[in-house]
Amino acid sequence: MTAPQPEIRYTTHCLFCPKTFDVSDLSVPRPGKTQQERAVEYVKILGKHIEKKHPEKYAVVNAAAMDMWGLQVAKLFTHEDPAFNRLVAELKAAFHQL
Ligand SMILES: [Zn+2]
Repeated sequence: MTAPQPEIRYTTHCLFCPKTFDVSDLSVPRPGKTQQERAVEYVKILGKHIEKKHPEKYAVVNAAAMDMWGLQVAKLFTHEDPAFNRLVAELKAAFHQL
């Protein structure tokens, strides 16, 4: 029988204020939730902080999310308008630089 391993916790630091968040090691399995589900929950918590405390940053995140949404939708069609295709290509290039 092996002794239970101590829980490893990691700290996330906000880049814009002194706020920190502690989270348990995502690589350690937890019953009832996948690693991805736990990561999504954690990002939601971080997002709420940004929304409340740094609304100008939240606006930038929202704009990027809308751009990504638009790009994903645009990719589901073929387009004859070269100006539209140019905008889609520029958006793709912008996301590749992230
Ligand atoms: Zn902050």
